[in-house]
Amino acid sequence: MTDCLFCSIVAGDIPATIVYETPDVVAFRDIQPQAPTHVLVIPREHYVNMAEIAEVNPTLVAWVMRSAIAVAEIEGITESGYRLVANTGAGAGQSVFHAHVHVLGGRSLNWPPG
Ligand code: 5GP
Ligand code: ZN
Repeated sequence: MTDCLFCSIVAGDIPATIVYETPDVVAFRDIQPQAPTHVLVIPREHYVNMAEIAEVNPTLVAWVMRSAIAVAEIEGITESGYRLVANTGAGAGQSVFHAHVHVLGGRSLNWPPG
């Protein structure tokens, strides 16, 4: 999709620090990390959010989640704990409208979040 920041990262037109990738998914470090580990896991294909993927291609939800868990293992935060977040809609803080899951960890995380 043109004019989509994360599509541009998938295409290699905007640089990102990629930590994991599969034929379906790319994972890269958030530019404004909120925790020692803050990685975004995105499908290569453009969807607006995780809800749209669930509707159109539910198998891809599983690949995104599996990749997020793989990232946690690679980052060494499986034992200490981590949080997977999919902000869905502007009211929930979604600011990039290409589906993504945040992988956050490496420090203690409060619950509930803000
Ligand atoms: P959202 O607010 O939509 O849930 O998450 C979007 C995330 O994308 C934010 O955490 C933001 O810091 C991150 N982000 C925005 N622009 C860029 C960028 O150009 N590169 C990277 N790596 N992350 C970005
Ligand atoms: Zn996109």
